[in-house]
Amino acid sequence: MSTEVKSIACLGLGAMGSRMALKLVAAGHDVTVWNRSQPAVEALVSAGAKPAATPRLAASQADFVISMLTDDGASRAVWLDASDGACRGLRPGAIAIECSTVTPGWVGELEQAVSVQGASLVDAPVSGSRPQADAAQLVFMIGGASDAVEKALPVLRPMGTAFHHMGDRGMGATFKLAVNALFAAQLASVAELLSFLRKSGIDAARIVEALPGFPITSPAIAGAARLMAADDTPVMFPIDLMVKDLTYVGEAAAKAGGKLPLTGAARELFLEAQGKGHGDGNITKIAKLYD
Ligand code: NAP
Repeated sequence: MSTEVKSIACLGLGAMGSRMALKLVAAGHDVTVWNRSQPAVEALVSAGAKPAATPRLAASQADFVISMLTDDGASRAVWLDASDGACRGLRPGAIAIECSTVTPGWVGELEQAVSVQGASLVDAPVSGSRPQADAAQLVFMIGGASDAVEKALPVLRPMGTAFHHMGDRGMGATFKLAVNALFAAQLASVAELLSFLRKSGIDAARIVEALPGFPITSPAIAGAARLMAADDTPVMFPIDLMVKDLTYVGEAAAKAGGKLPLTGAARELFLEAQGKGHGDGNITKIAKLYD
């Protein structure tokens, strides 16, 4: 079955965005790319994408505009810049897809700006890191009107294996923050328990061998324990981004009237690791707190 070729703009070619854009090129879509710094653009152009000089120009050539940027501030700069922002280039009827992990509050603001152009917004952040992006195994958490989500799905499919429509605008962003809060609490827990068990005299190799066999152990946590024990962690998801997500989920919960005491405790620990110079290290470097 052949794929219908879509015109897609990809804004933000960092660790995740570059891998996601490559999957869209490989799927045969007509992909235009923009990134703040140039080397990432050149790599995508070598793979078959077209470069654009500004987010506005990229958006003006596409029916679907995907962004994958650091945070609310980066997303705001790329979508709303008064002269070069992507919103100014959106075609009427286009679908804007915000894949960055951002706040539901910002998604609401962005939706207003997008709808002024006669376009629709879908928030579609992802779970999974660089290996899952390489393997097109990302899990998408999606918010937005059903008709816009239906249109976005064929564009998301080459990048992932699961697509959860969680509700209206902002619900993808909200759910994503909750998923990362769950992950953070588990990481903080396994880091302190690993230290406790080693100090008690159990060999680290025995711990990481036994841990995956329990029904309560998720594959992600078993993998994290292995990386913590080896203390040789490639950077996949840096602590700086986890601190950002835990801050965002705290803000979102406060607005919704929810309480997240455990998430708050995990945030303090990730902040401590950041303060000790591990911000650009992988999230598993939280184990360094117990060296
Ligand atoms: P990254 O490698 O640091 O890439 C960040 C991207 O944002 C780069 O393209 C960067 O441009 C751009 N950017 C940052 N500030 C900007 C600004 N002010 N104006 C314009 N562009 C700006 O991060 P990543 O790992 O790809 O993560 C991207 C998003 O996905 C984040 O929201 C993150 O929380 C989320 N996420 C990450 C992972 C993961 O495992 N890494 C997993 C799931 C979700 P330059 O290249 O010019 O710096």
